[in-house]
Amino acid sequence: MRIALAKEIEVGERRVGLIPDLVARLVKQGLEVGVEAGAGEKSFFSDEAYEKAGATIYDDKAKLWGEAGIVVKVAPPKDEEISLLHEGSIVISLLNPLGKPETIQKLADRRVTAFAMETIPRTSRAQSMDVLSSQAAVAGYKAVLLAAATAPKFFPMLTTAAGTIRPAKVFVMGAGVAGLQAIATARRLGAVVEAFDIRPAVKEEVQSLGAKFVEIKLDEDTVAEGGYAKEISEESKKRTQELVAETVAGADVVVTTAQVPGKKAPLLVTEEMVARMKPGAVIVDLAAEQGGNCACTEAGKDVVVNGVTVLGPINLPSSMPVHASQMYAKNILTFLQILIDKTEVNLNFEDDIIDNTCVTTGGEIRNARVREALD
Ligand code: NAD
Repeated sequence: MRIALAKEIEVGERRVGLIPDLVARLVKQGLEVGVEAGAGEKSFFSDEAYEKAGATIYDDKAKLWGEAGIVVKVAPPKDEEISLLHEGSIVISLLNPLGKPETIQKLADRRVTAFAMETIPRTSRAQSMDVLSSQAAVAGYKAVLLAAATAPKFFPMLTTAAGTIRPAKVFVMGAGVAGLQAIATARRLGAVVEAFDIRPAVKEEVQSLGAKFVEIKLDEDTVAEGGYAKEISEESKKRTQELVAETVAGADVVVTTAQVPGKKAPLLVTEEMVARMKPGAVIVDLAAEQGGNCACTEAGKDVVVNGVTVLGPINLPSSMPVHASQMYAKNILTFLQILIDKTEVNLNFEDDIIDNTCVTTGGEIRNARVREALD
């Protein structure tokens, strides 16, 4: 069976779905791997490196896609790509199933079996396939570097002949995978870090990274199934905004990462809160694409409001394509190990990972939430 590695066509997407070292492992297992010419170019993996790993390079995209058993990619396929897939073939990719349910419908109409890597269950067994975690770690790290490069101040405390510099104060809102990586990165740069999350369970993780946990007790359950945050009531949102307002006002940098799966991102930083911040302060909003955690965020733009710079970066993992691709590819390889038995696909829906992740097969949409989103 042939696995095809796609060249990404999405504007700004620099990642690639498999890297040469991992292609070599698939080839060793007896699988054929075809690579679209230039697939790894933007992440600095050359065609020669893939060839050396045992892959065949294809200049003809239609031929590669049309003959592949499995197509591996990063960004959801566009219409012109979906039309290249043959009935019964498999796509493994990020598919944004709740954000772009119409793409899922088109894949079902094409009778393609599609796996949305965002829907890998958050279980210990699936941890090594969890692309949301691997890519969120990249985003959390890069968010802090962007903040440090934008801030008109040092992050660390410096004692110099020219006087002593106080460390920057960083406030991380949302301490999931991206938030924890942001805390660790800001600490490594020497900042004094505070963090907040509505899930009380993260307190210890925050403290173990050397940050102070800003504790807020809400009168409702904040944790949903699978350990995710629940969407909280408007009243609780208001209360948290009031309680974190002082910390936001005193911060040199605020990194927001709060998300609730399938929902618009919660508003954590209001315009009034931004107005109270110090001129020169920086906000990096990692939820920009989901509507933003800050009222002033514009996705894909840097805006300055009363001297406060608000960055709304999109697709940050793509800005670090070498390691983001390496981690994504490792997630894909581990997933392929459970999907493929030696060299043949084994669609075992009794396996919760396969069952959860497969969004379309045989012309049907398998995921109830995607079907609801289309109604
Ligand atoms: P996420 O990207 O969905 O959300 C980021 C953070 O925002 C979360 O910590 C969430 O609690 C927080 N948040 C939501 N609403 C908020 C609000 N109003 N105010 C402040 N914070 C808010 O989360 P994630 O990083 O993908 O992780 C979510 C959960 O999944 C965590 O419990 C994590 O430990 C768990 N997880 C498990 C595995 C695994 O077992 N394989 C892997 C990764 C993550």
